[in-house]
Amino acid sequence: MHPNLQKTDKEIFNILKSEEERQTYGIELIPSENYASAAVMEATGSVFTNKYSEGYPGKRYYGGQENVDKVEQLAVERAKQLFGVDHVNVQSYSGSPANMAVYFGLLEYGDTIMGLKLDHGGHITHGLPISFSGRTYNVVPYEVEKDTGRLNMDMVREQALKHKPKLIIAGYTAYPRIIDWKAFKEIGDHVGAILMADIAHIAGLIAGGVHPSPVPHFDVITTTTHKTLRGPRGAMIMCKEQYAKDIDKAVFPGLQGGPHDNTTAAKAVAFGEALQPEFKDYAAQIVNNARALANKLMEYGFNLVSGGTDNHLILIDLTSKQIPGKVAQECLDKIGLTTNKNTIPFDPRPPFDPSGLRLGTPAITTRGMKEQDMQKIATWITAALEHYQDDEYLNNLKNEVRDFCKNFPVPGIKI
Ligand SMILES: *Cc1c(COP(=O)(O)O)cnc(C)c1O
Repeated sequence: MHPNLQKTDKEIFNILKSEEERQTYGIELIPSENYASAAVMEATGSVFTNKYSEGYPGKRYYGGQENVDKVEQLAVERAKQLFGVDHVNVQSYSGSPANMAVYFGLLEYGDTIMGLKLDHGGHITHGLPISFSGRTYNVVPYEVEKDTGRLNMDMVREQALKHKPKLIIAGYTAYPRIIDWKAFKEIGDHVGAILMADIAHIAGLIAGGVHPSPVPHFDVITTTTHKTLRGPRGAMIMCKEQYAKDIDKAVFPGLQGGPHDNTTAAKAVAFGEALQPEFKDYAAQIVNNARALANKLMEYGFNLVSGGTDNHLILIDLTSKQIPGKVAQECLDKIGLTTNKNTIPFDPRPPFDPSGLRLGTPAITTRGMKEQDMQKIATWITAALEHYQDDEYLNNLKNEVRDFCKNFPVPGIKI
């Protein structure tokens, strides 16, 4: 593979080979990651990377758009079919700029927005004080309930009634439970707020029918395309017709210049894949795997935030284990299990050295792993963390993991 790169740029070629090996011989448990198909990667690496096409199909500022227009229209049509929405903008570069475009298009500077606190599972763009969102808008965050680790919709309602936000954001980065969209809708109607769902993590679960959809209740929905949706790195914004003009203007020319047409082509391919019946099986298996992994971990004595999972992710609370998240992440890296340290709600430790570890099943499910494989992974996690200072022990586990991975080819990688 990559014969041209091998000829012209040995340095990058060698690093790429080594990344292909890492992705093949390790177990990818970061819940925001996935393996895009070979077809998605072909589109990403296609000649559409050469084109400039500021504007929208039929209204461009450059010539030669006959193919790009078709690609963008297909991406939009497939996204509409997949999620059942009125309007879609597929030009957002990534999840963060998509959220920025919604705020820029629908709010004035200084307006009040309400999102879940970062250390409770929200995203930086939902109002973290040092992000553009926290610096530009008046943020009144909501929290999960301390005892349960779950959203309590009475608490959300109380916060909304108190501050009357112009925009309420639901949809998270580290929340393992089903989101009650309808309850948000009732609150939004009550206080007159615009409702924005950020389904970056769970878009694939929604498309696959294993998580309820916010579409009937929410005004605007943003999502990345590279997480459970399994497409190229990128994002899109979906909305009700009444917001369509403001959203499109906010994306271009409000925030962006030319769309990345190669990514748009790859988004269209990924949406086409997600429309196939097999994608429903994939989404269901992600959740079954997460549940199996969570149950086994709890059996082995781990505390999980909220006591388990309904979706693709698991948040381990390591406070009772006396191993902080950072040490756990580094220990698991040594055996080829890739995870990420994460804050837990009401975390007593700082964000760069938090008490939690976040795991997820989207990538390993793409490789074809099933419930019985989750048992193995839970056993490796437990054994590694029990022997985190024993490098020889960890090295033996690493070899076991490597052998195991040979049974599960990665789409798009030939070694
Ligand atoms: C990942 C994520 C984003 C940001 O996406 P980027 O592509 O990394 O900018 C936004 N919101 C949520 C909830 C996310 O999980």
